[in-house]
Amino acid sequence: MRWGLRPSGPGAAAAARNLWGLPRLPCRLGWRGTTWRLLVRSVSGASNQLPNLNSGRYRDTVLLPQTSFPMKLLGRQQPDMELEIQQKCGFSELYSWQRERKVKTEFCLHDGPPYANGDAHIGHALNKILKDIVNRYHMMKGSKIHFVPGWDCHGLPIEIKVLSELGEKAQNLSAVEIRGKARSYAKAAIEKQKSAFTRWGIMADWNNCYYTFDEKYEAKQLRIFYDMYEKGLVYRAYKPVFWSPSSRTALAEAELEYNPEHVSRSIYVKFPILTPSPVLASLLDGSSPVSVLVWTTQPWTIPANQAISYMLEAKYAVVKCSNSGDIYILAADKVASVASALETKFEVISTFSGADLENGTCSHPMFPDKVSPLLPASHVNVTKGTGLVHTAPAHGMEDYSVASQHNLSMDCLVNEDGIFTDVAGPELQNKAVLEEGTDVVIKMLQAAKNLLKEEKLVHSYPYDWRTKKPVVIRASKQWFVNIMDIKPTAKELLKKVKFIPGSALNAMVEMMDRRPYWCISRQRVWGVPIPVFHHKTKDEFLINSQTIEHIIKLVEQHGSDIWWTLPPEQLLPKEILSQVGGPGALEYVPGQDILDIWFDSGTSWAHVLQGTDQRADLYVEGKDQLGGWFQSSLLTSVAARKKAPYKAVVVHGFTLGEKGEKMSKSLGNVINPDVVINGGQDQSKEPPYGADVLRWWVAESNVFTEVTVGPSVLNAARDDISKLRNTLRFLLGNVSGFNPETDSIPAADMHVIDQYMLHLLHDFANKITESYKQYDFGKVIRLLRAFYTRELSNFYFSIIKDRLYCENENDPKRRSCQTALAEILDVIVRSFAPILPHLAEEVFQHIPYANEPKSVFRTGWINTSSIWKKPGLEEAVESACAMRDSFLGSIPGKNAAEYKVVIVIEPGLLFEIMEMLQTQETSSTSQLNELMMASETTLLSQEPREITADAVELTGTFLINLEGGDIREESSYKVIVMPTTKEKCPRCWKYTAESSDALCPRCAEVVGAK
Ligand SMILES: [Zn+2]
Repeated sequence: MRWGLRPSGPGAAAAARNLWGLPRLPCRLGWRGTTWRLLVRSVSGASNQLPNLNSGRYRDTVLLPQTSFPMKLLGRQQPDMELEIQQKCGFSELYSWQRERKVKTEFCLHDGPPYANGDAHIGHALNKILKDIVNRYHMMKGSKIHFVPGWDCHGLPIEIKVLSELGEKAQNLSAVEIRGKARSYAKAAIEKQKSAFTRWGIMADWNNCYYTFDEKYEAKQLRIFYDMYEKGLVYRAYKPVFWSPSSRTALAEAELEYNPEHVSRSIYVKFPILTPSPVLASLLDGSSPVSVLVWTTQPWTIPANQAISYMLEAKYAVVKCSNSGDIYILAADKVASVASALETKFEVISTFSGADLENGTCSHPMFPDKVSPLLPASHVNVTKGTGLVHTAPAHGMEDYSVASQHNLSMDCLVNEDGIFTDVAGPELQNKAVLEEGTDVVIKMLQAAKNLLKEEKLVHSYPYDWRTKKPVVIRASKQWFVNIMDIKPTAKELLKKVKFIPGSALNAMVEMMDRRPYWCISRQRVWGVPIPVFHHKTKDEFLINSQTIEHIIKLVEQHGSDIWWTLPPEQLLPKEILSQVGGPGALEYVPGQDILDIWFDSGTSWAHVLQGTDQRADLYVEGKDQLGGWFQSSLLTSVAARKKAPYKAVVVHGFTLGEKGEKMSKSLGNVINPDVVINGGQDQSKEPPYGADVLRWWVAESNVFTEVTVGPSVLNAARDDISKLRNTLRFLLGNVSGFNPETDSIPAADMHVIDQYMLHLLHDFANKITESYKQYDFGKVIRLLRAFYTRELSNFYFSIIKDRLYCENENDPKRRSCQTALAEILDVIVRSFAPILPHLAEEVFQHIPYANEPKSVFRTGWINTSSIWKKPGLEEAVESACAMRDSFLGSIPGKNAAEYKVVIVIEPGLLFEIMEMLQTQETSSTSQLNELMMASETTLLSQEPREITADAVELTGTFLINLEGGDIREESSYKVIVMPTTKEKCPRCWKYTAESSDALCPRCAEVVGAK
């Protein structure tokens, strides 16, 4: 039993206690003052020639790795293998299996519903795979996963798609017919997306998803609507809202896209003073006409002007224009910039305070009979314009609040199509406001001599996200959520929600702050109806607990189609019907508005999270949802029950092309996940990578910023997985014939290097678990890649082959190594299983000692033993590696096995440590020699008596640092390198044989025993 670690001598025993027993605080080791760790790991300098054991006469006496686990999967083999694994390992049953487990903890990830339109794209892949990695990790850790995938099925995009496919036929269709077609369209898209998500290996019960067009979902949503209505948080009002003439509906902020290239026709207009305020009157001599100056980018809103707003506190100036001789009034701070914009000079006659404008009036620049009062308002500033703001209450949110305070008219002169109505006057009637209407307004201002300047202005302007056409702000009767009353509670509750990254919280609060109210009604048909009845002649509507209960019951049973299919009498409960005219003389008709789809999806917590406290542990979506689903879910949940619907929120970026550019069909850089998995038309350019490559890409990316994807990223992912596969194959091949139950070596009796690997494995496992916990999957990949390339392939695997292949099958040296390999295999597979479920299951199919191959996902998370933790071992292995590195560095390009080394260390801690790795003075089979990779190693405490002439002497120092610095000792060492005098053994190829035709003593013993 020479193989074991047996300390000798009293000094060594004391050091050994320190080394193997006690944990140690982090310490710093130095070797020649360089960061030796990187040097140690790679066998650089010398070539590491390993015997080619596949040939020769002793071929049958060596134990080569044996496994049917393929080294490479070429072409279609990769995707085909994944499909086979999904079948064989029960991917589709895994979700229900884990739900049925008796476990205490539940982890609930609430799936944000993708829109039921189009094929699954790379953005879906990023989102769904991220969620799946989280779920699989928590499931392996022992939690029951609650994850119900869903789809957002209603809304304008689908309705528009259906209508445009129908073309002219659409005009004759009823609401019910359009809804029927929209439903079929959504269903078809859902099926396609679902099969893609399943193919990516997403764990869920795909037969039990949620859909926003489900009867029960719709009924729950109506209940929340009524609940909020009763609390006064939902109300109907006439207000300016974003209006899309191209879709003929109101839009919410979340449905807008801002076009930075939009060109508006900005104008400077003068509003002639009709009655000056008393102070102003005292400043004017009456010799010239006096006007206030305003600037606007939306000339078409001038006809709807009702007032001019000013700042109470600011300073204003009376100026004389050098071009016209006219007198103008504008903010004192804007005199120079406006004069320059108008290409004139202003002579300041006097200045006065904004408050002095009070009670003044102007005449309308187009309609001289109309009066425009001057009113103070808090939203006016001097960043743009003149410091005096044209106020059209029907076309601006802030204008609207000025109008509410001062009882101004809010009449809207623009209809649903964005066209001036007859109220705007004969010259403007029937003209589209953003086109000809603007033109006519400018001409009318010119004719009235009130236009001072017109110029093109490029600025960011809201567009309809679906039709890609500009929207306008237009007052209309809509339903609103009073978010002003919800926001304070929502913000308070958000403090307890963990946002990852943390900055996302601020972004969300900022977006919420910018939102004055939430318009939830839409003038379309594909959605959940707003369950109110409108009086046929009066401006009154009907909704109460009786009507809503009746409607909810109907919707629960038949779906929301009933709103359009049932006669109105049947939509009302009998007791109400008799109060409102009875059948035949009904005074009310069902309203024609539907709910915003953000309200649809925002109430998903109520339907999907039933049975818990209706709060998910986690929401994971893209950053666009900070103004969308994250927010609508929060607002509805806070309104209904004063609770946030989530405990934590992970926010990821968007997917971009490889150089950080947007993906688009015209650029040809769109990455289609199906092509990634199955390959494209030209498979030499677009090879079939399989789903695991897609998943590796997601995990590896820094998902908290924009995520780039393209051929080189995918190729790199494939190469990484291929290297991982090689590592796994080595592990599987070398545990062949090993039975952990009967052949394992207790950790304390293992080779030092094997124990050291378990120590590294323990540390690796802890870091992996911590990284999953932090949702830092990129770190998981970095740790994994470093471990399998540096610690395993380059270091450990390069020195253990002789023990594995050439020792006796049952030799404890070999079993020690196999014990470590089996543990490494288990930890490694589990560490990447949530990311690469197909590869992990494939490995499990090839583990030779498993009685029946189990699913890695049904056998729990990484299980390490605390006895693996032996920080003292680092000193032993790393000091030996430091010496080996100086040795290998001295024989560049040569085979290390052709040299023998003499290590000279003066008596002390370092010598005692080395003595534990080699008890004999000279050995070719010691642990020290294995690490040195030499033919033989001699360990001396003093200089050898004779050194051959061709010897090379190397010197170095190594700082031993134990017990967190309590034991520190710097020792110098000398490594003497000489060519060996031994011959190459024909069996193990080590230079340890006495003659070229004889086996080395070790091989002779092994072969002889057979
Ligand atoms: Zn040999």
